[in-house]
Amino acid sequence: MVKMNSKIKARSNIFNAYLAKMKISKSGFRIEFKEPFKIALGVRTGTDCVMVEIEEGGKVGYGEASLPPYLEYSSEQIMIAVEKFSTSLDKKISIENALEILHKDSNIPNPAKAAIDEALWDLSARIKGVKLRSLFGNNADVIGPCTFTLGLDTPEQMASKAMRIPLGFLLKAKLGGEEDIACLEAIRSVYQGPMGVDVNQAWKERKQAIQMAELVDEFDLEFLEQPCPKEELDLLAEISAITSCPVIADESCQTIDDISKLKNRCDGINIKLIKCGGISPALKMIKSARENGLMILLGCMSETSCGIAAAAQLGELCDWVDLDGPLLISNDPFEGLNYERGTIILPTSPGLGITKVL
Ligand code: MG
Repeated sequence: MVKMNSKIKARSNIFNAYLAKMKISKSGFRIEFKEPFKIALGVRTGTDCVMVEIEEGGKVGYGEASLPPYLEYSSEQIMIAVEKFSTSLDKKISIENALEILHKDSNIPNPAKAAIDEALWDLSARIKGVKLRSLFGNNADVIGPCTFTLGLDTPEQMASKAMRIPLGFLLKAKLGGEEDIACLEAIRSVYQGPMGVDVNQAWKERKQAIQMAELVDEFDLEFLEQPCPKEELDLLAEISAITSCPVIADESCQTIDDISKLKNRCDGINIKLIKCGGISPALKMIKSARENGLMILLGCMSETSCGIAAAAQLGELCDWVDLDGPLLISNDPFEGLNYERGTIILPTSPGLGITKVL
């Protein structure tokens, strides 16, 4: 599923020289999970986020800033950043200029950038009447296989949940507890399909991490994500050398600046729009990752169909699509994105193609 970099068109071809007087608005929203979700960093029942809408000439572009607690941004901080940025839209300005101003401003937190960036891309494509992904040469309406995430739990519970995973999905097991190998054994006793694991930095001691890396090799994994603390890049390299499955950096890879440090230390990176600041920087990261020989896991936070539809526009350019956010939440305010037998079926109407229903 690896695609050529040449597929990513230069941005100057993408936008109309469209002068607009855009209206930007934002609102807080609480994403509720279908069931409590546990990872190595803790357990939670929902996630705060800020939804952004940018309107011009009757068209509305949507974006989302999901704020899991470890990002340490409050909704208020993000709303203030969006409000500040919106003053630069008071005058007539092209969408391309708005994106330039956004990404040059180092004071805007990346989740706020992501929400505004997504909304600007969505608006641009809706004005043009085309699918967002077509702006950078992507055409696929079906992407996948998509992951289905199992939160960290007891071996018995993880096995029980693994049995209920819908057909066709790639199981992604959250690890980093006291019984990681028992969890893998329990899952594998009932599920033989494709599986990756995400340790969320939990194998903190070198000896433990090396031992675990040797043991997990027995379980035929698609990938091993962020096994050790994010700053321990030499340990990440040691683990990569031991395991035969691809080792993916997530917390160790926040933005494009991290990619050169990860080259030759791991096999791939996890790109998330919230981490890097939206579709524009994600496109640059994809290009850089390929130039540095790295695979790409396209990831997400707990997000609604808005943020997920934005990320999914890039799915065709990545190796794995870890975009199961909408499957895990109970109050999705958008519709249009569908999951079928492990694939994501993207809407074909203009922009992100999603419709606001709440
Ligand atoms: Mg991860």
